[in-house]
Amino acid sequence: MFTYEAICRYCRKPFTLREGTKKYQQYKVNRQANISCDSCERRIEDDSRKYLFDRD
Ligand SMILES: [Zn+2]
Repeated sequence: MFTYEAICRYCRKPFTLREGTKKYQQYKVNRQANISCDSCERRIEDDSRKYLFDRD
C-alpha cells in the first residue's frame, strides 16, 4: 500500500495519507493542496455545524 506523508494545514503536524482515500488522490494531483488531518477535519465540521446553528 502506498502512503504519503503530508502536513496538516491547521495543526501543522505530519500525518499519513493512505492510498485509495480522497485526500490521497488530492495530494497526488497537487502536492500543494491544503489538506487537513482527520482530527482537524472533524473539528472544522463541528465548528461549521455550530456556526450554522448559531446564525439566527
Ligand atoms: Zn490537523
